[in-house]
Amino acid sequence: QSVLLSVKDLKRHFDVGKGKTLKAVDGLSFDIYKGETFGLVGESGCGKSTAGRTILGLYNKTDGEVVYEGQNVHDMNDKERQHFLKKMQMVFQDPYASLNPRSTVYEIIAEPMEIHKMYKSKKELRERVNELLEDVGLNRDHANRYPHEFSGGQRQRIGIARALALDPEFIIADEPISALDVSVQAQVVMLFQRLQREKGLTYLFIAHDLSMVKYLSDRIGVMYLGHLVELTTSDQLYGKPLHPYTEALLSAIPIPDPDIEESRERILLEGELPSPIDPPSGCVFRTRCPYAMDVCAAQKPAWLEKDEGHFVACHLHDDSIMKEVSSQAEQV
Ligand code: SF4
Ligand code: MG
Repeated sequence: QSVLLSVKDLKRHFDVGKGKTLKAVDGLSFDIYKGETFGLVGESGCGKSTAGRTILGLYNKTDGEVVYEGQNVHDMNDKERQHFLKKMQMVFQDPYASLNPRSTVYEIIAEPMEIHKMYKSKKELRERVNELLEDVGLNRDHANRYPHEFSGGQRQRIGIARALALDPEFIIADEPISALDVSVQAQVVMLFQRLQREKGLTYLFIAHDLSMVKYLSDRIGVMYLGHLVELTTSDQLYGKPLHPYTEALLSAIPIPDPDIEESRERILLEGELPSPIDPPSGCVFRTRCPYAMDVCAAQKPAWLEKDEGHFVACHLHDDSIMKEVSSQAEQV
């Protein structure tokens, strides 16, 4: 598998005044392979949207790097950047807020192609818009209408058609189904899957829970307070989660999974997500972790590869730490 995008120790901090720093993204590292769907999951406020925007170069980075096909995203000249922005697109959570209410569907979808001067004649452009509408399950009769005339699911289809207009390779979808009715979510997920097959797309799919991401993702990264806490294939994550936070997220999925024999016990996390301005010392999850030990406050867990391609940051899975913990317990 070839790597399309490489995120290396990426940090995005915000200065919030009074000498304080909000560490929204605080050291993310992962690769995305060509043609895969990489799910990035975590509760709201964990930094996943900021991560998406920083990866796309919409936000400057504070540290680390993002390399797309050998090129540093934050280190491009204007021409390189323009070329790059054609290959990478974003689909947003709220399909209404992201579509200009005063533009027709035609204008919305045609705009990026006009900016990039992709077609010489109006006729070609009109044809391409019709084609894109059909690609996302709408039709040419929709072109002269306005966003408010459509349902949430249809509006998200319009947003997807616009993202496809420049024929991208890579799409970052930031919670594209969270604002939709449950009955519509599955349809939009299936649309993403079909488009991936037809167009050979690579996705970074951002979500706040694991329910739909399981079906869509090849691999999943679980994020908590600006950090990745676990990363592995979708199947491994569901079948053999290692991090206590992943267990809690999995236990929150309402529909029982026939692939998993015993039903999971619901793990309710106590307390709120701590502030990324003043994060806990050691393990960032320790204030809500049912297994927290003394060492969790003292030491930041290492990013360990437990099985091939299965990474976790938790002392419980660090043999040398656990040896120490048990020998200390014996001495007491
Ligand atoms: Fe819980 Fe400690 Fe593991 Fe963090 S390192 S997840 S606090 S057991
Ligand atoms: Mg968000």
